[in-house]
Amino acid sequence: MKKITASVLALFLAAILSGCFNTPSEGASEATGSDKSSFEGSEAPGIEVVVVEEGKLAEIKSGEYTVKSGYTVLVNGKLRCEKDAEIVVEDGGELLVNGELEVSGELLLEGYLAVSDSASVCGTGTVLVNEFDDINCEGRFTAKITPPEPVVTNGVTTVGGVIIVNKAITISPDYGNGLTAETEAALERMRRASGYEMPVISGFRDYETQVAVFENWCTKNGIEEAERFSSRPGHSEHQTGLTVDVTSTADDFAYTDEARWIGDNCYKYGFIVRYPKGKEEITGYIHEPWHLRYLGESTAKLVHDSGLTLEEFLGVEGGDYRDEYVFSRSNT
Ligand SMILES: [Zn+2]
Repeated sequence: MKKITASVLALFLAAILSGCFNTPSEGASEATGSDKSSFEGSEAPGIEVVVVEEGKLAEIKSGEYTVKSGYTVLVNGKLRCEKDAEIVVEDGGELLVNGELEVSGELLLEGYLAVSDSASVCGTGTVLVNEFDDINCEGRFTAKITPPEPVVTNGVTTVGGVIIVNKAITISPDYGNGLTAETEAALERMRRASGYEMPVISGFRDYETQVAVFENWCTKNGIEEAERFSSRPGHSEHQTGLTVDVTSTADDFAYTDEARWIGDNCYKYGFIVRYPKGKEEITGYIHEPWHLRYLGESTAKLVHDSGLTLEEFLGVEGGDYRDEYVFSRSNT
């Protein structure tokens, strides 16, 4: 939620420029000593930006290190948070990673975390996230993310600001009124980059439409088969306005160059293939290479890098429905 201010950005750039010319040949232990003291300096009044210079290592061996509101920690070198240590980025604080952040303990993120495209966040520890909007990740993120608990507001479930709908989690019948502007803009960017037309076969569907769509599939295929690819009303991700089916929903679409391009690249434009191959027991649906869910570029990249389904990434329940479907009409 906290955006980088212009003045901080200027300092960020100045720090990068000055950091570029340091020779990275110093021994790690030597560098640790000197950087550790400057690191603790962020607690001192009047210092707003703390820099771990390129080629240097700073370590937090134990206890808690806090990036306070109004402070920015810039990591051009390497910052290591050991197993018994914790970094707390307070609301209004910023941790900008241009080098490497190794989390073996915990990183509690209430403020802002930016990871530039050549940077990485790694380690065996965990990053406890409050809102996924607090992260701007362009680089590699292999540390475990621990999401917050799901929150239900007006019949809509979110985890860290990310809407989740599946066979176990419903969405309020009156939610949604079309594809969001962000989803449409991102799809347009992806189309241009890919060279494929990617027509929208199905975009936003409201609750009433989903009643008709689902019951029609049940009439054609029987409910058991229909439920493997079509959602009951109140369970469709298409109602979020963040989901599109593109190009073709035919079985052989998966084997086209276009589907492969989408699978490899859609995260760069903020989308994920929501129902990946071999994950039916978790997502509740067969592989649908055409069904794309918009998450925003940073969150889509985090999910992509994690190799997890959205259910696993957000730590929510998934799988099959919990009850029997009651038809709205007399067709069975
Ligand atoms: Zn779909």
